Amino acid sequence: MEKMLERLREKKVKATPQRLAVLEYLRSGYIHPSAEEIYKKLKPLCPSLSLATVYNTLEALVDAGAVNRLTIDARRTNYEYGRAPHAHFLCRVCGEIYDMPIRRAGAAVLRGHKIEKTWQYHQGVCRKCLKSPQKKI
Ligand SMILES: [Zn+2]
Ligand SMILES: [Zn+2]
Repeated sequence: MEKMLERLREKKVKATPQRLAVLEYLRSGYIHPSAEEIYKKLKPLCPSLSLATVYNTLEALVDAGAVNRLTIDARRTNYEYGRAPHAHFLCRVCGEIYDMPIRRAGAAVLRGHKIEKTWQYHQGVCRKCLKSPQKKI
């Protein structure tokens, strides 16, 4: 967290209580919530919080490199704490996103180019949904 605060300072992003609350919430687990989910979770803890503030906060944190924006689910945008690069698995049934280690194949094909960012994701049905008889798969 200290490192992250330093990064925010470097990028001249003010560490307001709302921004810290969002960052702390994302850091608390390997979670990939949408802005609405973050808002619902934090609203009882910070009554002055608005959904617009959550969106603005996420924008600022993404710009500062503290938070990653995931656009793997066409139905919503998800956010996560800016951990080391990793791949994602999206369950098409429940919409849950899981972290996976990244596979660095194919870089050799791009000889002479420089990869700066990698987005890697997989789609399917998660273990929980496969085991649940009520869910239509
Ligand atoms: Zn699932
Ligand atoms: Zn992730």
